[in-house]
Amino acid sequence: MKPIVAVVGRPNVGKSTLVNRLAGTQDAIVHESRGVTRDRSYHDADWNGRQFTLVDTGGIEPLKSEDVFSASIRDQALAAAEEADVVLFVVDGSVGVTEEDESVARMLKRVKKPLFLLVNKLDNPDREQERLWEFYSLGLGDPRPISAHHGHGTGDLLDEVVSCLPDETEDDEPFPDALGVAIIGRPNAGKSSLFNKVIGSDRSIVSDIAGTTRDAIDTYVERDGRRYRLVDTAGIRKKSTVYENIEYYSMVRGLRAIDRADVALLVVDAGIGMTEQDQKVANLAIDRGCALVILLNKWDLLTEEHEREKVMETVSRRMTLAPWAKVLRISALTGRSVEKIWNYIDDAAAARATKISTSALNAFLTDLREFGHTVVDGKRRLRMHYVTQTDVNPPTFTYFVNHPDLVSDSYRRYVENRMRTKFGFEGTPIRLHFRAKS
Ligand code: GDP
Ligand code: GDP
Repeated sequence: MKPIVAVVGRPNVGKSTLVNRLAGTQDAIVHESRGVTRDRSYHDADWNGRQFTLVDTGGIEPLKSEDVFSASIRDQALAAAEEADVVLFVVDGSVGVTEEDESVARMLKRVKKPLFLLVNKLDNPDREQERLWEFYSLGLGDPRPISAHHGHGTGDLLDEVVSCLPDETEDDEPFPDALGVAIIGRPNAGKSSLFNKVIGSDRSIVSDIAGTTRDAIDTYVERDGRRYRLVDTAGIRKKSTVYENIEYYSMVRGLRAIDRADVALLVVDAGIGMTEQDQKVANLAIDRGCALVILLNKWDLLTEEHEREKVMETVSRRMTLAPWAKVLRISALTGRSVEKIWNYIDDAAAARATKISTSALNAFLTDLREFGHTVVDGKRRLRMHYVTQTDVNPPTFTYFVNHPDLVSDSYRRYVENRMRTKFGFEGTPIRLHFRAKS
């Protein structure tokens, strides 16, 4: 489980510029996994071998629905800080201290986390020292000059951030062979209800073991001789604060849970349909290699056929890049189809562990060469020499080709689709790499 570094501050101070700067080249690697660029508010980062996740709170939109607490910048920042291991509070040195900065600072003082006050946009650090002084008034210690744009000060910053991250603890897993299952989704989708239904009706709970990580309490369930670890984050079982309703929580908690899971159960409120935020969370799970099952919860609310169709339509529209995800209609309230979830989990986990034999892969490649598209660019023609499975969980394949740069996103998807038609992989992401070999 990777530590989380949250970047907070009012709009336009340079948060996303900073996040891109700090995440550096890692992003390219993240994108490679699916070859599709997406709007992201989280980034994997690595500094001297220490891995962590940077979360840009600016990229997360507050909930828009009226019945829920609408989150201001300040509340977003507090929620972010409470969930994070380290907080980077960014202010704009070219503007000076604003009222919003002061209000965020007052609130951050209450959060007992390592915090860095970053005065951004000081592009000429030698000449702009005096601009720093006024930020002492925020009462958050020494302000640090940085330029997200030019990179001044960011290397030293990373050294210090990394030194504040919690030690990497070996999780003392009581059942290392248990399958990790995470319940994720937006606030109010029904995650807690489902969790309680699943463990409440089930007498085969092995144990409730407090994990070594602060906010994770996993529940082990045994069924038909198979063990499952229901990855929980404090939010699912006991809801405490008003901040529960902040989208940010569901994002970051989802992220933490996904990191520790093999299969993600995405709970979608069928009364609302699949939203953009659901789609983002689904993408998080896919990018991190989790198998995915979409649970359309509150199906009991949909009594009209046309309502049901509309909801299904939102799912296919949002999941065009991952049409392989299995969808199950449930009601955590009535218990409808809740029992079926286990089969879906098992199937998705089995697909994720699939190993394809070399001979089957060779036969597939022969087919692809014979009946597939020809990829050409001027005089260059893409040739696929051979393919091998380099990993499972999720299945990962490396194609050795003459010109990897000829492989476009759409060709990559084409090959993926052909592989899915041939081998299945229902419910699991797969990864394709194209490497040079002449
Ligand atoms: P966010 O809303 O906090 O995520 O801010 P952005 O990262 O989108 O940046 C807002 C604006 O500030 C953009 O026009 C950036 O190019 C600019 N900016 C960000 N960092 C710096 C910097 O270090 N120096 C200067 N001069 N401009 C910057
Ligand atoms: P969470 O924020 O995702 O954990 O959602 P909760 O489990 O707290 O559920 C939010 C609300 O939706 C509660 O009022 C639940 O009673 C309700 N709810 C959950 N599941 C269902 C369902 O299947 N059908 C209906 N009608 N309501 C549900």
